[in-house]
Amino acid sequence: MKMKKKKVIALVAHDNRKADLKEWVEYNWKQFIPHQIVATGTTGKLVSEAISLKCQKNDAVPPEVIKLKSGPLGGDQQLGAMISEGKVDMLFFFWDPMEPQPHDVDVKALLRICALYNIPTATNRSTADFMISSELFHQDYEPIVKDYSTYITRSLKDI
Ligand code: PGA
Repeated sequence: MKMKKKKVIALVAHDNRKADLKEWVEYNWKQFIPHQIVATGTTGKLVSEAISLKCQKNDAVPPEVIKLKSGPLGGDQQLGAMISEGKVDMLFFFWDPMEPQPHDVDVKALLRICALYNIPTATNRSTADFMISSELFHQDYEPIVKDYSTYITRSLKDI
């Protein structure tokens, strides 16, 4: 599960945080150029438009943005599956701490998978700033994932 220099970066924002994510992405647009973005549906549309505009104005080639389903329609679960398959390197998740979401259980599941696979996960803007300004953002990196082989190979007699 080694991260290459070119990373797959997941972006998700709840509706009340979409404006914040858009502003943050516009500010950091250059950092995304060498990478690939994957995002839940509506976030993906917003981010893709914002980065494309910045790139157009600056004669740069925008990064690819893969749009999954909208979060409440399964997008968070799609992301979780991708993380478990080693297809996503990090997550920036601007979630809304003030409103319950119809898909709260999916959000919890996504954050659990991020912890399980030890992928960098920013759940607020300051952490996002620290992560995106880290040297490691543009370098190879190998997250140390806990060894679950004892769990996987446990005897069925013990179940
Ligand atoms: P959205 O989903 O980008 O489709 O709005 C985000 C979420 O709520 O998980």
